[in-house]
Amino acid sequence: MQKLLFTPGPLSTSKTVKEAMLQDMGSRDHAFLLAVKEIRDGLLTLAGVSKEQGYECVIVQGSGTFGVESVVGSVVGASDTLAILVNGAYGERIVKMAKINRINHLVHRFEEDEIVTPEATEKFLEENPAITHVACIHSETTTGLFNPIEAIGAVCKAQNKVFIVDAMSSFGGVEMDMQQMHIDFLVSSSNKCIEGVPGFSFALCKRTELEKAKGQGRSLSLDLYDQWNGLESNGQFRFTPPTLSIMAFRQAMKELETEGGVSARQARYQANKKLLDEGMAALGFRQYLQPEIQGHIITSFLYPTHIPFNFEHFYNQLNDRGFVIYPGKLSKADAFRIGNIGQIFPDDIKRLVTAVKEVLQ
Ligand SMILES: *Cc1c(COP(=O)(O)O)cnc(C)c1O
Repeated sequence: MQKLLFTPGPLSTSKTVKEAMLQDMGSRDHAFLLAVKEIRDGLLTLAGVSKEQGYECVIVQGSGTFGVESVVGSVVGASDTLAILVNGAYGERIVKMAKINRINHLVHRFEEDEIVTPEATEKFLEENPAITHVACIHSETTTGLFNPIEAIGAVCKAQNKVFIVDAMSSFGGVEMDMQQMHIDFLVSSSNKCIEGVPGFSFALCKRTELEKAKGQGRSLSLDLYDQWNGLESNGQFRFTPPTLSIMAFRQAMKELETEGGVSARQARYQANKKLLDEGMAALGFRQYLQPEIQGHIITSFLYPTHIPFNFEHFYNQLNDRGFVIYPGKLSKADAFRIGNIGQIFPDDIKRLVTAVKEVLQ
């Protein structure tokens, strides 16, 4: 049985994306090098920028976290200070990276059910003039909220700070313009809204800032500047590339284009979200977040209190029917999560809701 993944990744992918991995591929193969080039250019286009406008795409082997750590560990220099704006587990992960990489950092924490506000950010930056870089999550997958990146970016820009955004679970599923949002480094990965398979992450970088990272990486394999330099010199990776994952991703990007680009994909995810909201509400489920800050990527549902509920049992019963949901990650409330991204269509959401109803009965 082909299970459907209602998770934040890895996600359900199309048959044709999986088929793109059937051919063994050497790391110097012309088709592979061409795919790398097309992907690097294509990702910049999706972010509304180009090389001519001064942006670069660096692909980093590994999952999304590797890409974030590559950026944070390479672009924040020894005498710089990173401000981390946290309202969930992925923000906390950047704090961990800063500690392990011995990066000077300051943390501003918000509640998990509140957005990072531009006002608080502005005040925090004014109070701490040592700050040179700011990191924030766009779609906080812990809860599903969207932080107001453009407004936070405007504050960073006005105060001349380098702005790093983890747009892991939103890039490709939410229309974004890096320049308009004042983002200097945007990180996402192969197995989220572009709908490829796991294997790599990518950083979209403002070139003038990327150049400053030369010689200051804190890790050999995650040195962002050296990785870029390697890709630029001969189009190849410094170390074994995720060849098949790249081929699948090239196909996934073509399918994104065929679907109608990011705006069409966003519309599909929003349609999924609407059906999920309506279906789950009709079954008596309440959501953790207020609707104004809830994004259309993933939703946290509170454990119901009107009926006996055991998450393990609920999860297993849905799993047996071919629907994979996701546990919660909240620090203060019991919840589970359902994602709308990947090769999931409104009919799949209807079938999921029907299965939830059956399981509850
Ligand atoms: C998925 C995700 C990541 C990366 O997680 P990996 O397990 O390393 O792929 C980072 N940040 C956010 C917000 C995510 O949703």
